[in-house]
Amino acid sequence: MRNLELLVANWKSNKTIDETETWLHDFSEGLNKASIGLEDRRIIVAPPFTSLEHARYCAGNLKLAIEFAAQDISPFIEGAYTGAVNGKQIKEFANYVIIGHSERRREFGETDEMLEKKVAMALHFGLTPIFCIQNENTPVPQGIKIVAYEPPSAIGTGNPDTPENANNVAIKVKDRYDITHVLYGGSVTGQNVASFMQMPSIDGVLVGGASLDPLKFLEIIKNA
Ligand code: PEP
Repeated sequence: MRNLELLVANWKSNKTIDETETWLHDFSEGLNKASIGLEDRRIIVAPPFTSLEHARYCAGNLKLAIEFAAQDISPFIEGAYTGAVNGKQIKEFANYVIIGHSERRREFGETDEMLEKKVAMALHFGLTPIFCIQNENTPVPQGIKIVAYEPPSAIGTGNPDTPENANNVAIKVKDRYDITHVLYGGSVTGQNVASFMQMPSIDGVLVGGASLDPLKFLEIIKNA
C-alpha cells in the first residue's frame, strides 16, 4: 500500500500575522471551491515562529485539516539560551519541525553535530522531525522517519532535479536508514509535482517559493 502523501509548505522568513491569516483564508476558500479532498494526504504548513500560534488558531476556526511545522528548533532544553525556541514551546503549536535545511547549514553554520542535538530535542518533546538531506551521503541522525531530499542547486532556482534521480536517492536512503517517507524538495511547481509523485519511492514534496501563494500551493496539491 502506498504511504500517506506528505505535502509540506515551507514559508521560510516570509509573512506577517496579517499575511498568514489571508493565506489561510484564501487557501480554505480555494480548497472548497475546487473540492480538493485532503483525506489521503497530509498537508503540513511551516510558517515562521511569529505566525505559528495565529496560523493554528485560524486553521481551527476555518476547520482546515492541516498540520503545522516549525522551521527550526533549539538544540537545547529550556533555560538560558537567548533567542532560542525550544521543543517544549514548539509542541504547543506544531507536531513537526524541519531540521537541517541547507539554508540553515549554509547561512547559520549548522553542523551535523548540532543537527543531531536538534533531532534529539525534537524527539524528546514528541515532535516529528522532517530532516533535510542535500544528497545521498548526508548523514541522517537516529530516530528520523521523514527525510526531505533537497539538492541545493534545485532550491529556489527553477532547476529541479530529475524525478528519476530523486527516486534513486530515495531508494538508497530508504535502504540505508529505517525511514518511512522520503520527500523531494527543490523548485516544485504545479506543473512538475506529478512527475515526482509518480516515482515509487517518493512519498511527498517540500515546497518553498510556490507555497507562498495559496493558489499555487493548492495547484500542487491538486496535481500531486
Ligand atoms: C525549500 O525551501 O526547501 C525549497 C525547496 O524551496 P523552493 O521550492 O523554492 O525551491
